[in-house]
Amino acid sequence: MIKLTKRQEEILQIVKREGPISGKEIADKLSLKRATLRPDLAILTMAGNLEARTKVGYTYKEGASAEPFMTISEQFVREYKGHPVVVRSSSSVYDAIVQIFLKDVGAIYVVNDASHLVGVISRKDLLRASMGTQDLRDIPVNVIMTRMPNIITITLEDTLHTAAKRMIEHHIDSLPVVQEINKESHTYKVVGRITKTTIAKAYMELSKRYTV
Ligand code: ADP
Repeated sequence: MIKLTKRQEEILQIVKREGPISGKEIADKLSLKRATLRPDLAILTMAGNLEARTKVGYTYKEGASAEPFMTISEQFVREYKGHPVVVRSSSSVYDAIVQIFLKDVGAIYVVNDASHLVGVISRKDLLRASMGTQDLRDIPVNVIMTRMPNIITITLEDTLHTAAKRMIEHHIDSLPVVQEINKESHTYKVVGRITKTTIAKAYMELSKRYTV
């Protein structure tokens, strides 16, 4: 059980007496700014003493069940993965650029005829290819892509924390979510994608649960 500060005790008393009450109203009663109270309100909500509901405000929770503060370490790739955008390795650089615009993504995954992952192409790869003089319709993506076994992947069972760490360590913006078919031959099926935006959105979603 965490030891509450004097101010946190005061907040609890106010909410107990007058809840549901907004963060702004609590702040006014204590002659403080709403922003000053934000960390206290987050702590009390995480500890389970208060319940935060949008448009309703804070209510007091009897016999605090101490709902644990969920972090991205407890969230799984399976729940957050997005749709992967894939092209065949015989597709042209031109086609890949069209797909990047149509599907509004930052990277495309390249698959072979058996639909197994063989490459990744990012915006910078496409820009690099565009700097040459060759017609982009004549350059197959497999000439410019980052290829297996150098592709950094993630699985459905991994956490978002592992995904974030992997993207930062390898200086990349996205990870293909894969299911292993044969580890020795680096054969994987692509079932989704995780990007730095996925992590940022999950973070916002999780913090929203604890403040109003
Ligand atoms: P951008 O090129 O838009 O900055 P990235 O930072 O994701 O995007 O890509 C940087 C380089 O890393 C590119 O050459 C790309 O092919 C490669 N890359 C991107 N994602 C992966 C990945 N999951 N595994 C290995 N290489 C990757």
